[in-house]
Amino acid sequence: MSDAAERKMQFLYALRSKGVTDKHVLTAMEKIDRAPFIRGLFSERAYEDMPLPIGCGQTISQPSVVGLMTQALEVSPRDKVLEVGTGSGYQAAILSQLARRVYTVDRHRRLVREAREVFEALDLTNITAFTADGSHGLPDQAPFDRILVTAAAEDPPGPLLAQLKIGGIMVLPVGQSDTVQSMIRVRRHETGFDYDEMRPVRFVPLVEGIARET
Ligand code: SAH
Repeated sequence: MSDAAERKMQFLYALRSKGVTDKHVLTAMEKIDRAPFIRGLFSERAYEDMPLPIGCGQTISQPSVVGLMTQALEVSPRDKVLEVGTGSGYQAAILSQLARRVYTVDRHRRLVREAREVFEALDLTNITAFTADGSHGLPDQAPFDRILVTAAAEDPPGPLLAQLKIGGIMVLPVGQSDTVQSMIRVRRHETGFDYDEMRPVRFVPLVEGIARET
């Protein structure tokens, strides 16, 4: 077996062993190579199940966490999805394989610009990336079938709850500190929201406002 094929097999094995079992999610993660989303030195480590630095002081999430969050989101092919926290664009690329349309926002202009370049290079035409403060959601495109937040807030932001369709699902990390956070799944029904605490996670914080160019 070639080195590349072996690396891919190990990558998929690591995902399964951490609980990523949904076959559509695994197929998407098999298809979308993580390396193009990591610039510079760290791209060599793209197939390790580790978060890695991506610039602007941010990180690309650990693949197994991407898989588990995507799985918890229960995306269907007709869904319109909002991701808050584009970062490298890797999570959005995985979502693009499962959903009809993906909107993704980040407060760092540079990360949005770089992610767009990768989406274009990989011909992922159903993703639209914006520079915006995602804690306000994306009112012009709302409501959404699914919302995924990849930065941690103390509580689910009100505007995001409001922009979730009835029957919709939002997955997000919540926590009072940088170190103790839980992944939460919120389902909206006719009369309110159900909350489901799923597992401990660790994400960078959701920060208000657009970042100043560095
Ligand atoms: N999903 C990314 C990793 C996210 S890291 C990936 O697949 O690579 C978290 C990202 O959330 C960072 O890029 C950070 O800039 C962004 N972020 C933090 N607060 C935000 C906010 N209020 N609005 C939009 N993006 C935010």
